[in-house]
Amino acid sequence: MSSSIRLGRLFGIEIGVNWSLVFVFALIAWTLATELLPFEVSHQPALAYWVAGAAGAVVFYGCLLAHELAHALVAIRYGVKVAGITLWLFGGVSKLDGEPKSAGAEALIAGVGPLTSLAVAAVMFVLSLLPLPLLLSGVLAWLVFVNIALALFNLVPAFPLDGGRLLSSWFWWRSGSRQRGVHSAVRISRVFAYLMIAFGVFELFTGQVLNGIWIAFVGWFLLSAGTQEEVGTAVRGLLRSVPVSAAMTSPVVTVPDWLTVAQFIESIAPDHPFTTYPVHDPSGQLTGIVRLGDL
Ligand SMILES: [Zn+2]
Repeated sequence: MSSSIRLGRLFGIEIGVNWSLVFVFALIAWTLATELLPFEVSHQPALAYWVAGAAGAVVFYGCLLAHELAHALVAIRYGVKVAGITLWLFGGVSKLDGEPKSAGAEALIAGVGPLTSLAVAAVMFVLSLLPLPLLLSGVLAWLVFVNIALALFNLVPAFPLDGGRLLSSWFWWRSGSRQRGVHSAVRISRVFAYLMIAFGVFELFTGQVLNGIWIAFVGWFLLSAGTQEEVGTAVRGLLRSVPVSAAMTSPVVTVPDWLTVAQFIESIAPDHPFTTYPVHDPSGQLTGIVRLGDL
């Protein structure tokens, strides 16, 4: 997710898009312009299909952004810092710095995304009922469909999807431990991921090659995301109970403050691997530090 293009800020949240979206944008516009819209509304000029297709792709990204912004704003409301939002191949990712403080907060942060997509679908549906140009109605009908699909796909109970987080928050609420919640949710996640991979391979053998590869790839992605989630939670849990003394270097080599820089470089620095040395005065009191890089 590092190779993203910055778009700007919204509600103080950094918004970016992953390079993969350029490809997906073209794919969506092309599918709309050459397949879906001509099928729904025939006998329009080619340019009209392409304009409608591109407009549909732009609004689709707006819908993705609404979904992710909902996550981010609820997260902020519950005291979780949001580093930014990146839109990419599978929709969007709200980068949360830290963890929700309660199972309820996690459930709300996760659940509001699919709810927002469903609400957007409802708005698009009402708009599509208005007497509008046929192509516009066609694009709106497609947006209703993709927003419902977005909500449903995100509700699949597998990490890093919202459904995985909802499941994890439920187990958290039941067990009282976030780590145990994640652990149980990841186990169920894995079952879904393996099922998707198996189904993808099955599709491959039945001749649905592209579909099969795609589904298997998503399954593999969910599998690795689940493992990452579990490792990340375990590491954060461990770090919470590890004192800094476990990470420090000892014994400590201190430098008397009356030593000259030349003496320090010749007599002390070559004998030790450190880059930083605490400095003490004649009474033994620590008075500062000296870094080799500063000399
Ligand atoms: Zn979501």
